[in-house]
Amino acid sequence: MEKLRPDIYKNKMSDINFERLKENGIKLLLIDMDNTVLKYKEPCIDVEVRKTIEDLKNSFQILLFSNGSKHRVKQISETISVPYVSSAFKPCKRKFLKLFKEYKIEPCEVAIIGDQLLTDIKGGNRVGITTILLCPLSEEENFFSRINRKREKKIFKKMGAKGLFFKERYYE
Ligand SMILES: [Mg+2]
Repeated sequence: MEKLRPDIYKNKMSDINFERLKENGIKLLLIDMDNTVLKYKEPCIDVEVRKTIEDLKNSFQILLFSNGSKHRVKQISETISVPYVSSAFKPCKRKFLKLFKEYKIEPCEVAIIGDQLLTDIKGGNRVGITTILLCPLSEEENFFSRINRKREKKIFKKMGAKGLFFKERYYE
């Protein structure tokens, strides 16, 4: 259960205290795509998120890190001019570890921002990076995410019962 608990939990991306992340030595931000930077079935990035990402470029290396297919992820990454990893297979460790080598970076210098416990947060915790959970931008989701959400709901409940995590009680 501890492996599914995010280090930071916020409603939306602009609520994250990025200055503190910087102070804590974070250099690389891995950002999930679906329901983190854009809503399901929407072709464009959320306006507020886009602005936040633009501002962050001065302080961090940014990478779109998505389980989505190359075609979609590449297209979105080009609109915000950031590199990407598609088919990341989160929560598998493999692509995270490959990245650390490529960027010559330590896990303590990396954070992941995403909307799903069972992919973004679980994967990030497995490799020892800072994990940041956000509320999904939209209620609508693809088939696999809908299945994950059902499992997630039960996990939220269990974590709440243990006092580990409470939905909509944000923290860092
Ligand atoms: Mg997502």
